[in-house]
Amino acid sequence: MQQTIEKDSHMGGVAEGEFLNQLKTTFSQLPNEIPIYMFTQKGRDDIFCQTNRQIIRAFRELTPKITFKEYDLDHDLAKKWKVNSSPTLLIAPEKYSIRWLGAPLGEEGRTFLETLILVGLGKSNLSEQSVKTIQKIDSPRNVKVFVSATCPYCPQQALNAVKAAIEKPEHVFLEIVDIQAKPELADQYSAHSVPQTFANDILIGPGAQQEEVFMLSLVKMETQTIFIPDIDAEIVETDLLIVGGGPAGLTAGIYAVRSGLKTAVVERLALGGQVATTPVVENYPGFTQVGGKTLVDIMVSHALEYVQIFQGEEVLDIIQGQPIEIMTSRRKFWSKALLLATGANYRHLGVPGESRLAGRGVSYCSTCDGPLFRGKEVVMVGGGNSAATEALHLHNMGVAVTLVHRRDSLRAQDYLVRNLTESQIPILWNTEVKEIRGKDRVEEVLLVDNQTEKTHTRKTKGVFIAIGYVPAVGLAEKLGLELTPDGYIKHDSSHRTGIPGIYSAGDVEGGYKQIVTAAGQGSGAAITIFEDLMNPYWLKDQK
Ligand code: NAP
Repeated sequence: MQQTIEKDSHMGGVAEGEFLNQLKTTFSQLPNEIPIYMFTQKGRDDIFCQTNRQIIRAFRELTPKITFKEYDLDHDLAKKWKVNSSPTLLIAPEKYSIRWLGAPLGEEGRTFLETLILVGLGKSNLSEQSVKTIQKIDSPRNVKVFVSATCPYCPQQALNAVKAAIEKPEHVFLEIVDIQAKPELADQYSAHSVPQTFANDILIGPGAQQEEVFMLSLVKMETQTIFIPDIDAEIVETDLLIVGGGPAGLTAGIYAVRSGLKTAVVERLALGGQVATTPVVENYPGFTQVGGKTLVDIMVSHALEYVQIFQGEEVLDIIQGQPIEIMTSRRKFWSKALLLATGANYRHLGVPGESRLAGRGVSYCSTCDGPLFRGKEVVMVGGGNSAATEALHLHNMGVAVTLVHRRDSLRAQDYLVRNLTESQIPILWNTEVKEIRGKDRVEEVLLVDNQTEKTHTRKTKGVFIAIGYVPAVGLAEKLGLELTPDGYIKHDSSHRTGIPGIYSAGDVEGGYKQIVTAAGQGSGAAITIFEDLMNPYWLKDQK
């Protein structure tokens, strides 16, 4: 199994002692010292300064390679390194320009740990393609990545930037900005959604990007969405390749490897799919209440015990045949079978202002962006389980949320509806959003009462949208797979699609769309695939 830093960073399911021992060994093998400097404002010692001291003390107990010094902002070293914000962490400032504004809490802890390891290694660990791309940079890039402790997409993007700063220390100067510690800076950049990446004050990454796409965006100084590899990548041969690292794909991976199939999972974004951004899950058996991201971490740790996961890779093309040839942004896979567990993407409202103000107050992820709206008025659009769960989450974190729903009753589970009522979250019934308005950020929404047709505007700082999902069927369409009238992959009860060797599982198939049903579909598909590979029905048909 591939031993990666990624694996070390998922603690769920791994005994803490064992995890710490693994970390100690990893650090002991690093060739370089890891000096950390913290700058704070004289006389002001906030929670972020204290947290930094605690985090770094904990790391220093693992290794003597980490050294730590603390200075006031008026110290000469602050002038030398142009530090003017408290607290700021500098990591190996004599070698690299990597700084943290705030404290690496929650999800950011993962980024911080991996940064320390890469600095200790003295290597960026970038792919060959990324190195080739970033070599084209010949002038300074002042990079700012805005992140939050609760955003599961953020580590991927922050690490892209860290790797760039390590690979090109003479040109890439990085600031990772924790939006909770620095809300005024987030405001200044209109970064009302995380992650967001700026280079020389130009927005180059409005979300989490795949590594090579990030490097290309940094070279071109504008957001890129696709990276076409220009060399033949490494070839990986598998019995089963799973596209999608949500509950369906991860479960299928566990089942397939346990059946003896050589299996890999490819995921272009954050592992866990929609679950990773679900604030709380209360109906997954075995957990009365668990954070979506925590559940994902446990699933990923479990899956990594069996299956190799290629995260941050996008499948670009699939050529049918035996083997099936799958081109990702990094390499080529030859696989006997392919499972599409690509899940679903957020449904958009499709109203004027929505795409223009996305990341400027329009958000599809309350877990990621909620902290930016504490004490502010926002609307949550939708009437299903997602809208109810997320409205409760925003309310609990101190956001003044109003639910806007197009009908006079919710389709959310009774339990959630009762919680909404008890929390006294206002609901605007029979109301639709017609337009989202604002110059550089959301300022107001135009609402219509669909019973009376009367319109009115409502001042709001944020518009959270949770109106369901649309199945991610781009690859299925490319392959020519038949879809259902609702747009899901057409499949039989054993998860076989119309093309031999190609299967589906999870939300991309439609159905109940629960975490537990996606996991069930994943296990069912893996069992079918094992049986089919032992006894290929498509070969029988040819006889
Ligand atoms: P959903 O159940 O499909 O609900 C979507 C909501 O958005 C509906 O209330 C719908 O209104 C509204 N809507 C759809 N298009 C709209 C538009 N263009 N403008 C305004 N409103 C619109 O979606 P979901 O809540 O995201 O849930 C997706 C799946 O995940 C569901 O199967 C759900 O059960 C599951 N889930 C479960 C949990 C849980 O068990 N705790 C949590 C989250 C999600 P109408 O009601 O008028 O159609």
